[in-house]
Amino acid sequence: MPPSRALPCPVRTRLAVLPALCALWCWSGSAPAASAWAAIATPSRGPSEVIGTPANGCVGGAGALPESGPGFVSVRRARHRFFGHPDLLRLVQDLGRTAARRNFGLVMIGDLSQPRGGQMPSSHHSHQNGLDVDVWFTLAPTAQAARQLMDDRPDPPSMVQPGTLASSGAWGEPQRFLLETAARNPAVDRIFVNPGIKRAVCNEAQGDRAWLRKLRPWWGHDAHFHVRIRCPAGSPQCEPQAAIPAGEGCGADLAWWFKPQAKGTTRKKGEPRAEPIAPAACMALLRDN
Ligand SMILES: [Zn+2]
Repeated sequence: MPPSRALPCPVRTRLAVLPALCALWCWSGSAPAASAWAAIATPSRGPSEVIGTPANGCVGGAGALPESGPGFVSVRRARHRFFGHPDLLRLVQDLGRTAARRNFGLVMIGDLSQPRGGQMPSSHHSHQNGLDVDVWFTLAPTAQAARQLMDDRPDPPSMVQPGTLASSGAWGEPQRFLLETAARNPAVDRIFVNPGIKRAVCNEAQGDRAWLRKLRPWWGHDAHFHVRIRCPAGSPQCEPQAAIPAGEGCGADLAWWFKPQAKGTTRKKGEPRAEPIAPAACMALLRDN
């Protein structure tokens, strides 16, 4: 059953003779609590399908990322956010294999989505429809070291210095390689990184620089980067995002992030957010046993 707070139907009693219709109306007009999504332990059955957007969606028939694989290790597993569309799991595995060939260490994989996606009670507004994954810039020598570094501990070091956003001592070739490898993967739609990191790679990248276009500056994202893949085939209810503007994004657009007016453009912590109307297909997924 859905949580009662998700059924604030003002005409509920008047429609008592039509309960099914009422439920449908109510669900389509409100978002279920994040805790309802977080309480679900397993993916839904059936084929894999992405529904809605990363900030208002869900994923059916999600796969679970293994604890580790060639070149990668999944960390903070207790959060139970290691589920995604199979295309996303493939992307992680591709990234791990490519990093392994360079012997940079294991790529530490953070949150993907909850078993059926949906809103999370903490940390993310997106990551809802099985297309998003956080990748830590810090690499780990072993899976055990990765868990010691990450589980129940603060985040690993930032790649930028506070204030100036110049590269920190932690930034280097393995980090740039990881970012470039992810951005060059054709499945990847865009990657969110700190403006300081985008500026660093804009200054450093040689040769074919087309991959820079996919790097989208955003606050935070200085110890990890956030990869979003494209809507997969066979997901007609997946809503693609607006296309990224043409060009490398190393010019005026990037310069704006370092101007005083860029400060304070994000939502303050605790500030209320208007809840979008959740896709009806996600409501069905939430109710499915
Ligand atoms: Zn993220």
